[in-house]
Formats: sequence, structure tokens, C-alpha cells
Amino acid sequence: MALKYKRVMLKISGEALAGEKGFGIDQNILSKISSKIKEAHDMGVDMGIVVGGGNFWRGRSSTGMDRTTADHMGMLATVINALALQDALEERGVPTRVQTALEMPRVAETYIRRRAIRHIEKRRVVIFACGTGNPYFSTDTAAVLRAAEIEAEVILLAKNVDAVYDSDPKLNPNAVKYDRISFMEVLSKQLGVMDSTATSLCMDNNIPLLVFSIKEPENIIRVLNGDNVGTFVAREV
Ligand code: UDP
Repeated sequence: MALKYKRVMLKISGEALAGEKGFGIDQNILSKISSKIKEAHDMGVDMGIVVGGGNFWRGRSSTGMDRTTADHMGMLATVINALALQDALEERGVPTRVQTALEMPRVAETYIRRRAIRHIEKRRVVIFACGTGNPYFSTDTAAVLRAAEIEAEVILLAKNVDAVYDSDPKLNPNAVKYDRISFMEVLSKQLGVMDSTATSLCMDNNIPLLVFSIKEPENIIRVLNGDNVGTFVAREV
């Protein structure tokens, strides 16, 4: 089957790795997701991955703490997930590199754009950790930034929700699901797809976004084959 996308940025939220426990890493889920990443890699898809850290720590949710310090802790949490994902992928024979936006050379490479692209050209999966390296940002913003830098054709936003809705489907049983929606509409309706910084960056750089549930890891393969899964977000739809 012809590939719909050749180079993609996969964003995996920390929450997705936690599974039902809601905290930490569920090895069973990690192993299912890594198997699908291997399948995608074997199909010939070049991939960068940004991992979140919300399964361990979210800077904005910490109370009574200096926000920058709390965000530094959040960035460190993404490193835990990145290393776990690297381990799971390498166990399956997928060559990987972790690159961190904050320097920690004993643990992983420091992010260098040209080096990341070279790894991808050599068919290594590059896992980007520490988000953008700056407090007050999210790993969604990092996913968009790195997608633009590595010239990914699309961002695959793998979450615990299966699509974009007009209201929270957990709270409203009549919530309407969007198959396609523009970034402008996401922003004006304040739909919780990504934070507005990430959404604006995606819109301004014209990078399409596919939002889908990772609870069914097969969805990674479906979206790469161009199947209608989740919600497609773009500048014009
Ligand atoms: N973070 C940050 N700068 C970034 C990316 C992340 O300070 O560029 C911190 C922030 O505290 C955030 C935490 O890392 O709450 C975990 O990232 P995020 O909440 O985006 O993870 P996800 O919700 O995708 O699991």
C-alpha cells in the first residue's frame, strides 16, 4: 500500500503511557505502542517522536511552587518516558537516538537539528525529550517546533481521547465529534486539542495535525495508511 506520509512527527502524551493507572508507565501499553512504531518504521516511515511527561509531573498543576522550577521538573519527567520508549524500541530492533533540549550528555545526546535530521535519514527514530527546553511551554509546542525543524509532513497527536469534540465527551454525552476542523476554529472555540501556543505555531507554519486515540495502538498504522481515524486539523479543511 502507498504510504500517505513519509516523514512524520509522533507526539505521545505522558498520560497515554500511564494507561488506566493514570501515573507512571504501564509496560504493557509501552510494549504495544513500541510494536506499532516498529511496524511503521518497517513500512518505511521516517519518524521523530516527542514524548510528554504528564504521567509523572505537570508544571502548571503544581501549586505553591515556583513555576519555572516546576516546569524544569516536568521536562525531566519527559526524559524518563523518552528512555523507557528508547529501551522498548531497541528491544524490538528499532535503532533510536534520544536528544534532549536540556544538556545531559551522560544520558543522551543534546538536541542538534542537523544531527537529528541525519539520524532520521539513516533510518533512526529520534526521540525528543525535555520539550522545548523552556519553562511555560508544553510538549505539544515542542512537537510542532521539532516537526517544523525536521520538516515533518504531519503531526500525529496520539492521546487518550479519540478525536476533537465540540465539548468534553466525558462530561457531555451529546458532544459532537469533528472529522475535520481548521486551526482557526479550534482557537476561536477554545477546543482543548493542544494549548493555544502549540495550535498557533502549527497554524502559522501550515503543518497538518491528526488527533487520534493511542488506546488502540493500531491507529498509528491506520493514519499512516490514510484511513479516516480521529480528527484532521489543518489551516483549511
Ligand atoms: N515542559 C516545559 N517546557 C516544555 C515542555 C514541557 O516546561 O517545552 C514541562 C511542563 O511543566 C509540562 C511538563 O513538562 O507540564 C510535561 O509536559 P506536558 O504537560 O506537555 O506533557 P503531556 O501532557 O504531553 O504528558
